[in-house]
Amino acid sequence: MTPQGSRLHEGDTLAGMPECHPARRALFARRVPRGGTGERPGAGGGGPRHLARALLDRSGAASHRVGRRPALKEEGSPVNETAARRGPQWAMVIDLQKCIGCDTCTVSCKAENRTPPGVTYNVVLEMELGEYPNVGHVNVPRPCMQCDNPPCVAVCPVKATYKREDGIVVIDHDRCIGCRYCIAACPYGARYFDFGESYADEMQGADEVQAPEFGVDRGPRRPGKAPVGTVRKCTFCLHRLQRGEEPACVETCTGDARFFGDLSDPHSVVARLAASPRAFRLKEELGTHPRVIYLR
Ligand code: SF4
Ligand code: SF4
Repeated sequence: MTPQGSRLHEGDTLAGMPECHPARRALFARRVPRGGTGERPGAGGGGPRHLARALLDRSGAASHRVGRRPALKEEGSPVNETAARRGPQWAMVIDLQKCIGCDTCTVSCKAENRTPPGVTYNVVLEMELGEYPNVGHVNVPRPCMQCDNPPCVAVCPVKATYKREDGIVVIDHDRCIGCRYCIAACPYGARYFDFGESYADEMQGADEVQAPEFGVDRGPRRPGKAPVGTVRKCTFCLHRLQRGEEPACVETCTGDARFFGDLSDPHSVVARLAASPRAFRLKEELGTHPRVIYLR
């Protein structure tokens, strides 16, 4: 393996979406139900190569304390006055040269959001680069991209999924009818169907665990009660943002590869990193305009 082989280069977009390492896939794969095949149509997460009641607060007025540095405002700047009226525009930057592929983000996300088997909001994909003998690989963490032009929202027949003013795409689990059109429409494999499975076989009291997603405590998961039977996805840990905390994956990242903040603030770390020549978005050619920006 050479350093040359493990770097992304100008023009690389990862348009083909890398493969999830088989060991990781096994670790986070949905459990096979007793007597079943483990295969259900529309299970979400995309193919092998792709690898909540609604939000109480739709205003998007999450705390400005979130971010690696306080939001700075320039007096009299028209740009910042407009941004202040609109509120923060949340975005995430992931530095692929810093990601060590440890999966801490995946595990901390599952623990934070209490996701059931088969529902993993954040995965770390792997992509091989170069040709023998100059080969290497890059780890590509993949949360929901919080697209500015989200195909998942466009196809929802009951408007259960929508984009908030702060840019986060969310799901009203009391409106979602479980048709899974959005799973098919998402080009990043970022949505999952909640089949109602649990970790009860492995963890005592697993069914009593409550999911704090979107700041709504829905109580213990029960068959026939949302979010069981609905589609689920990453929300940048909106319930944490509402407490002024960063997403769990950002807070726990071992490689310090993730940055989170207000993209509309030109002084924010994410805005400055997004302007870097190293910055790119996954599948930019689709016009989805992701709010997750990578650094090659
Ligand atoms: S990544 Fe997929 S689920 Fe997330 S906003 Fe974009 S289309 Fe929707
Ligand atoms: S926790 Fe950070 S370093 Fe580890 S896999 Fe996730 S993004 Fe990469």
